[in-house]
Amino acid sequence: MTERYAVIGNPIGHTKSPLIHGMFAKATNQSLHYSAIEGPLDGFVGAVQAFRDGGGRGMNVTAPFKLQAFELADERSERANLAGAVNALKFEGGRILADNFDGIGLVNDIQRNLGMSLAGKRVLLLGAGGAARGALLPLLEAAPAELVIANRSVDKAQTLARQLADRGPVRGGGYGEVGEATFDVVINATSASLKGELPPLSPVVFAADGLAYELVYGKGLTPFLRLAANAGVKRLADGVGMLVEQAAEAFVWWRGVRPDTRAVIDTLTIPLA
Ligand code: NDP
Repeated sequence: MTERYAVIGNPIGHTKSPLIHGMFAKATNQSLHYSAIEGPLDGFVGAVQAFRDGGGRGMNVTAPFKLQAFELADERSERANLAGAVNALKFEGGRILADNFDGIGLVNDIQRNLGMSLAGKRVLLLGAGGAARGALLPLLEAAPAELVIANRSVDKAQTLARQLADRGPVRGGGYGEVGEATFDVVINATSASLKGELPPLSPVVFAADGLAYELVYGKGLTPFLRLAANAGVKRLADGVGMLVEQAAEAFVWWRGVRPDTRAVIDTLTIPLA
């Protein structure tokens, strides 16, 4: 029987998840149907229950429901607990299992697809929202020399750094506290680019042979990527690889089969310039 999966969000018209999972299913000969559901803003739990009652096996969860999905879950992974948000659900034996694959998707894209090992590198993470929180543990597990979190609301960055202090070399603060230090990898996990804005970042943070990674995807050279390019950074990336890699992790979790991601990333990539 064809098993059912879906992504739920609001709005949901922009989602690439049905295309991504459709390509994964075809390439791995998995019989499944994957749809997009626009969850009512005041009816997320009911929409999940209806999908599950109708035989649904798992869901991806996107904005604005990642926190509600966290609350709904019976069981959560450690990285989901640290992120305080989940982006994937699995319905199993009457229970709702939850995980957050955004961070591992980011790390896999940087290390496997872009070929930059994070071990021993100095990493600067901009932002302290859901995406940044999801990235912290996977980034620390990749053994960087240092992970610095910079955020507009300084207390959020400091709190996150305190929570993770026993997991690796991490500190948090405001943009001013980053100072004139240089980083091998600078990751923009803020939503500033969606509004054409730029966090108050000095161009000296970029190492010329480093990587500037923008989580927003499909928007070309965002103000952040332009700042990096003007600072001489050659390796620029947007979040399309992260999107596909987090989907691959959910696919493995649900189906027990790892899909190849290269063809899907190539299909979805919009050149930066
Ligand atoms: P949140 O709303 O949870 O967090 C937004 C973050 O951006 C906060 O840290 C906020 O700072 C900061 N911010 C917003 N505007 C500015 C600004 N003008 N200057 C400086 N900082 C700013 O969003 P998410 O964490 O869920 O998502 C962040 C981005 O990541 C989104 O753009 C989303 O599209 C992208 N994303 C991409 C994914 C992918 O697969 N490629 C997956 C998930 C997210 P403050 O705390 O001070 O408000």
